[in-house]
Order: sequence, then C-alpha cells, then structure tokens
Amino acid sequence: MEIVICHLYPDLMNLYGDKGNIFVIVKRAEWRDIDIKLIPASIGDNVSEDVDIFFMGGGQDREQRLLAPDLVDKKGVSLISAAEKGVVFLGICGGYQLFGHYYKPENTPRLDGLGILDVYTEAGEKRFIGNVLVKSMIDGYKDLTLVGFENHSGRTYLGKNARPVGEVMRGYGNNGSDKTEGAWQNNVFGTYLHGPLLPKNPWLADLLLERALSRKYGEIKLSPLDDSLESKAHKKAIEIIT
Ligand code: GLN
Repeated sequence: MEIVICHLYPDLMNLYGDKGNIFVIVKRAEWRDIDIKLIPASIGDNVSEDVDIFFMGGGQDREQRLLAPDLVDKKGVSLISAAEKGVVFLGICGGYQLFGHYYKPENTPRLDGLGILDVYTEAGEKRFIGNVLVKSMIDGYKDLTLVGFENHSGRTYLGKNARPVGEVMRGYGNNGSDKTEGAWQNNVFGTYLHGPLLPKNPWLADLLLERALSRKYGEIKLSPLDDSLESKAHKKAIEIIT
C-alpha cells in the first residue's frame, strides 16, 4: 500500500517544528511497510488530485498574508474538492485558521480561508501562549488525551458543521472562553497544538493514517506499534502541565 502526503507551504508554515508531524506519519507508515510519497506544494505550485493526506503547519500573520491568496485562489478548487471527497487534512494553528472561512488578524485586512472547516477566527490583543492538555471528543477516541503547546492571537469559533477535537483541561484552546480545542469535520482536522503535535500523541497520527488508508483501500485497522517512548513523553507532558 502507498500513502501520498502533500505538505502545504513547508517553507512558510513551520512554526515550532510543525513539520515534525510529517516525520511521525511517514515513520509510523514505514514501520508497517506502507510506502509514502511526500510532495511539497508552496506558492505557485499546483496540487495533485491524487493525495491522501494534506498537512499545513503554523505560521505568523505575515506568512499567512503571503500565502492566503495562493491557497484560496490557486489551490482552493482542488483542496475543497479533496476535502469533500474525504481526503484527510491536518492543519496546525495558522494552517488550521486558513482551513476555516476566514482569519482576521488584529491590524490587517481579513484573510479568506478554504472553508473546509466550519470555523472562523478573529485575532484578539492578548496572545494565548503555553502548554495545553485536551480531552478528546472525537468519536471512537473519546477521553483520550492530547498534549501540546499553543501560541496564537486568533480566537476560533465553531459553526454547526464543525465539532471540537477536544475539551480544554489546561490552557486556552480555540478562544480561551468556550473550553473547546481544535475542530474536525469529515476527515479535516485542525488544532492549535504545536509541539510538534504527533510525536507525543501517536493515537492521533494513527487515526489520520487509518482514515487515509481506509478511504483508499477499504476499512483498515493498523497493527499496534511499541509506543512506550511516546507514552512516556505524553505522560511527562501531562505531569508538567498539571
Ligand atoms: N498568526 C496566527 C495567530 O497568531 C497563527 C499563529 C501560529 O500559527 N502559531 O493566531
């Protein structure tokens, strides 16, 4: 089997080593003898129709302003069609914000997003910075925990078609007020958790892989890996924040 991953704007959207999420997905596939094809797509590049997972990391307002027209005008039709067909997406922070309807930075004009998540984001004065602990609200993964680090001025609010990735147990999450973190809809996932996210949250990496494989090859359950090191790191992160 093979999984095709498209890394969106790897040169611009890589805050806090978010590209480490790609390495985790690649390794967890290779450890199960699943082949991986990794395609970068930045400003000016077309995106292939034959992608199983799109990934977009976080970035500052400046980078988001730079790429937003390309994301929506040049790549939008292909990306929206892919999301509608159930292709897996993972967006972190600034990437997450641009998967929504729009992101309005504090002092610059609003940036239209893809609208593949029914969310919108408006920046506030205070930045939300720090470690985060989340209790999953994803069907089939309820009450598992996610740990990460957040640094954003954006406040994200969910519409009726998006569901929270989880409930904030420590930290700010989407907007510091409704106790939600992240959003998911169909196979599109967005979260504020940097870290990078997946090394300390291997269950989420496998969730994304399983959904991408099942969409391509029919229902697939991945064989378990020895996640003792990842679990140790996850538990340590929880210890630090609680
Ligand atoms: N620029 C966005 C904000 O400040 C996203 C930041 C990020 O990706 N960490 O909310």
